[in-house]
Amino acid sequence: MRFATVTGADGRSTAAADPGDGWRRLPAPHLSAYLAEFPAASAQNVLGERIEPTALTLPLPEPRKVVCCGLNYADHILEMGRELPAHPTLFAKYADTLIGPTDDITLPPGLNVDWEAELAVVVGTEIRGADRDEAAAAIFGYTVANDVSVRDWQKRTLQWFQGKAWDHSTPIGPIVVTPDELDPVAGVEVVCRVDGVERQRGTTSQLVFDAAALVAYVSTFTRLRPGDLVLTGTPSGVGMGMTPPVFLTDGAVLETEITGLGVLRNRVVFR
Ligand code: ZN
Repeated sequence: MRFATVTGADGRSTAAADPGDGWRRLPAPHLSAYLAEFPAASAQNVLGERIEPTALTLPLPEPRKVVCCGLNYADHILEMGRELPAHPTLFAKYADTLIGPTDDITLPPGLNVDWEAELAVVVGTEIRGADRDEAAAAIFGYTVANDVSVRDWQKRTLQWFQGKAWDHSTPIGPIVVTPDELDPVAGVEVVCRVDGVERQRGTTSQLVFDAAALVAYVSTFTRLRPGDLVLTGTPSGVGMGMTPPVFLTDGAVLETEITGLGVLRNRVVFR
């Protein structure tokens, strides 16, 4: 099933689900609130009236945790001049970093801003200390993310945090698709375009740590709850890896697309 947070014809935000024949209202203002209140598998029982969305907005505006994995595609790791890792490289973002599928990426001028198209995992049930099977069963679905990164700040220290957690920088959406309809282990294409020029094209079959492995690993040390997000890393083709490096310019249009999950289309605005 497909899920989203949408603006209805009445101008109000609502969680919504599409069981295959169009969008229907769910009893919550957005998917974060929906997943906090209802069991992940219960959507079929609480589908409301049919709606015609006027916009798809940030699907999960209130995750308690956003955990990200760096260096997770074999080709991207080699591009960055590193060896395949024994453990995932993890960092965190705040909910304040997240924006919707068509929102502007707003950052101050003068930064080296780069793109990172990524598959994001949406947690559906509360877990701690999960093994791989439990983690796989706890995945509510998948969505598209771009882990837009401020490289000059990222490289200031060994910790990447200050280059990754800029408010209003990380588009997420447009829909969340459940695992019965999308299998990243089999491989879905992750694509990034800047002003229409393709910069990244990878497949999730290249992931060193796949979705279930990452969710299990993270749950070892921190509790994950419904609506939390785990970003799985980016394939090769980032601007920093080009010779010379290329970064996003004011007004650039960043498109992030994953097969079966749709497209994020975000303008870069320096102000
Ligand atoms: Zn990333």
